[in-house]
Amino acid sequence: MRAWVVGRPGPMASGPLELVEREVPEPGPGEVLVKVEACGVCRTDLHLAEGDLEPRRPRTAPGHQVVGRVVATGERVGVAWLRSTCGTCRYCLRGMENLCPRSTYTGWDADGGYAEYVVAPADYVYPLPGDRPAGELAPLLCAGIIGYRALARCDLPPGGRLGIYGFGASAHLTAQAAIAQGAVVHAVSRSAASRELAMELGAASAGDRPPEPLDAAILFAPVGDLVPPALEALDRGGTLAVAGIHLTDIPALNYERHLFQERTLRSVTANTRADGRAYLELALAHPPRVTTAPYPFAEADRALSDLAADRVNGAAVLIMG
Ligand SMILES: [Zn+2]
Ligand SMILES: [Zn+2]
Repeated sequence: MRAWVVGRPGPMASGPLELVEREVPEPGPGEVLVKVEACGVCRTDLHLAEGDLEPRRPRTAPGHQVVGRVVATGERVGVAWLRSTCGTCRYCLRGMENLCPRSTYTGWDADGGYAEYVVAPADYVYPLPGDRPAGELAPLLCAGIIGYRALARCDLPPGGRLGIYGFGASAHLTAQAAIAQGAVVHAVSRSAASRELAMELGAASAGDRPPEPLDAAILFAPVGDLVPPALEALDRGGTLAVAGIHLTDIPALNYERHLFQERTLRSVTANTRADGRAYLELALAHPPRVTTAPYPFAEADRALSDLAADRVNGAAVLIMG
């Protein structure tokens, strides 16, 4: 089979992704072999290719938003970021398996979906309907699920004012989920195309800064410099949730300007399977408008370069030929 792997991590211009020929992997006990139809492109894949996240094993295929069919049964499934947890630690037992110290991740601890086939533990894949385009389902698997968790973590009150910083794949799905719940959404983005998309999806504003104090905010852009102004834009008692796995350093905070009046800064760390199931149930019952930028499988490196340069509007997806 063909697979893209991270050779030597570095800037996209240095060509960290390599297209290779490999044996189709063999599923182990409790695993399924999945023939990939489409794989969403996530900013985490870019962090792995560029070395912002340390590789956990050499020459690993990234990709954790896989839609495909189980070879043995023909069942349509999704393979997402959370690949396994121990099931016995204090976090797993408390329903916080996203914090399991022994958790593993698709495309980081094991080969992911930038390949024609992938293996995954059966207990961690999600059933998906067979009649929807794979390219529209793929972004739900990380952009959608992580955004859903971030929305829960930012404690948005009913009908509240939500700021969304960075308007890419996850933000465009999260904004729709929030608006469906009655939130007033303000998008903050540098990209004209993203601002336009935000307004089309029902945002109340899209610009350089929110026009009113916010009850809650989610930071999707991996830019620590945005944390102080995002905290400052919160109303009293507001919460800022940082959605990404990687963030550049946060500059010094001023207690009075950025935190006092019970403003809260918190992270979002992966997701539990319960988050995944809850989000997918919602998204399949009330499908969001998924704006995709499709790329042929052979152009995965171009997809990541475009993501690095903020040239993707909505969610980039690799489509198998
Ligand atoms: Zn992701
Ligand atoms: Zn555990």
